Amino acid sequence: MMPADTNDLGRIKHLLLAVGSAHVTGVPLPASLSSTAGPGAGKGGSVFFSDGVSRVRLTLDENSPVHIENFGDSAVLTFDGPEGPVSVDGFVEKTGCHCPKQAYITINEGCIFSCRYCNVQNQDKHTKTPDEIVSLIKDACSRDTIECISLTSGVVGTMKEEDERLFAILEKIRVFGLPIGVSVYPTPGLSARLFEHGVSEVKFNLETATEKLFAEMCPGLDRNVLRDSLKEAVGFFGKNRVYTNIILGLGESKAEMKQCIMQCLENGIIPIIRPLTPSAELFDYPRPSAADILGFAEFLQSELPRFGLDPSKARTMCAKCMGCDLTPMTDLHAGEVAA
Ligand code: SF4
Repeated sequence: MMPADTNDLGRIKHLLLAVGSAHVTGVPLPASLSSTAGPGAGKGGSVFFSDGVSRVRLTLDENSPVHIENFGDSAVLTFDGPEGPVSVDGFVEKTGCHCPKQAYITINEGCIFSCRYCNVQNQDKHTKTPDEIVSLIKDACSRDTIECISLTSGVVGTMKEEDERLFAILEKIRVFGLPIGVSVYPTPGLSARLFEHGVSEVKFNLETATEKLFAEMCPGLDRNVLRDSLKEAVGFFGKNRVYTNIILGLGESKAEMKQCIMQCLENGIIPIIRPLTPSAELFDYPRPSAADILGFAEFLQSELPRFGLDPSKARTMCAKCMGCDLTPMTDLHAGEVAA
């Protein structure tokens, strides 16, 4: 990204994430700005706005109170927020595949599971072949400077079939010589094989702050498998290479979220606190408040150093992108964190 002296976007990013959307005027957005993965799955598209330090991804919505005037090489974001009007100079980023600087590809676009917050199971169950994945990476490289390849997937076959499909893809994409991140529902022993296949980082999503919420939100999936797989992964990939998304706003208490964060850190796992995007069965849930988004990011930032962990070292996937989350170390100013 372009260098910048200040981090204006980081200072207001919690307010923007609490809104979650933007309307864009001026120079039309690149056609590649739409997404089939992550929180915007199944929606019309997003914009990535950056000030050169931080990045935010916002869903396109012409009724949004957040406005981005795009001038092409530069852009201005304005927002009449709860703390008064704000304005940030920056630019709209182009995307490789799904997000800037990455070829972030969803292998299976459908899923046999029905997590209550997720739209993926309602999408076409197309499964990309290794050749299609290679072709998407080449396309991404033609649009943007690609620094890594990230792979994610819904589950459409047996877990064994999913693993074999993934390994076939990993064999094919080695030639690009880029760091590779993998975020899937893991099977026991998966990390060892991913490591052998040259994968740099993994993200296995615990999704909820508590076991009870997981049982309610993700029927058919096993949180113990995820927890055990994450611990196993740390043994192979090491510090700053194992991540997990925890959704903020599913009904957990503050104490439960903090306890979950601490359990992750104690095991060498970096949690990514992902504000809920209300959708699918949870379409009528409120978005998490800006205060909660900021509060948990500050808590995480204050605890990470004790465990020698630093998400700004991420080379792939969401911790590298940072579009959907308030990211410790990068978005928050060191030394300015509230006590
Ligand atoms: S933070 Fe993750 S889900 Fe969000 S846009 Fe970036 S890569 Fe996608």
